[in-house]
Order: sequence, then C-alpha cells, then structure tokens
Amino acid sequence: MSDATKTCPICGEQILAVARKCRYCGEYLDPAARAQNRPELIERSLMPVGRPVSAIAAGYLALFAVLPLLGILPGLLAVIFGIIALKKIARDPSLVGKGRAWFGIIFGGLTQLAWIGLLVYMIMTEGRHH
Ligand SMILES: [Zn+2]
Repeated sequence: MSDATKTCPICGEQILAVARKCRYCGEYLDPAARAQNRPELIERSLMPVGRPVSAIAAGYLALFAVLPLLGILPGLLAVIFGIIALKKIARDPSLVGKGRAWFGIIFGGLTQLAWIGLLVYMIMTEGRHH
C-alpha cells in the first residue's frame, strides 16, 4: 500500500500517487498542468483585466462613502457606478467584478441613508433650540 501514496513536494502532505493535484494545498503536481494553470492565476490576481472600470470605481467610492456627510457624493457615485458596472457585466458574461459593483451599491447606498438621516436629525434638533 506504500506505493499508493506520495508526499506532496509543496506542502509535504500524503496524497495519492496518481493525483495530479494536491488535495491539501491545491497545487498541480504535473508540471504541464501547473504551467497551464499558473499564468492564468497570476494574470487574474495581478491585473484587473475583464473587470469594468466602473466596478472598480464603485468599490473605491463606497469606501469614501463612510466619511460623515462628506461621503454623500462618493456614496451616490458608488451606487451609480455600481449600476453601470452591473449592466456592463450583464451584457458581457466574461467580465468579473459583480461583487465590487454590489458592494458599491449596497454599501454606498446604506451609508447615504445613514448620513441623510443624520443630516435630517441635525437640522431638526437645531430647529428645536430656536
Ligand atoms: Zn500539497
């Protein structure tokens, strides 16, 4: 039975001798398969290729939306860019970035409700003093 398993050269776990991919670390053991899968992985993690600029903008703008009151404009823009990105992704299924787009819409939108609510509250409490 000892020849039925081998040691993964990457993580050292015992894996099936016939395995082409380590089930512990997910690394391809067959050099050909590794070369085939690696460039794609690097490309996907380093370059935002296939992700609409509007999705990236929505993601970043949503982060600025947390700024009290000043975040209203970036928050609204995050919602707008998020909707643009979702429409673009719906037209081209090869595009990614749906998560960022939704993050922009939901996070940008929710923070705006909070800031507008706070603004209304401030105006109302201010009015009570006079
Ligand atoms: Zn491994």
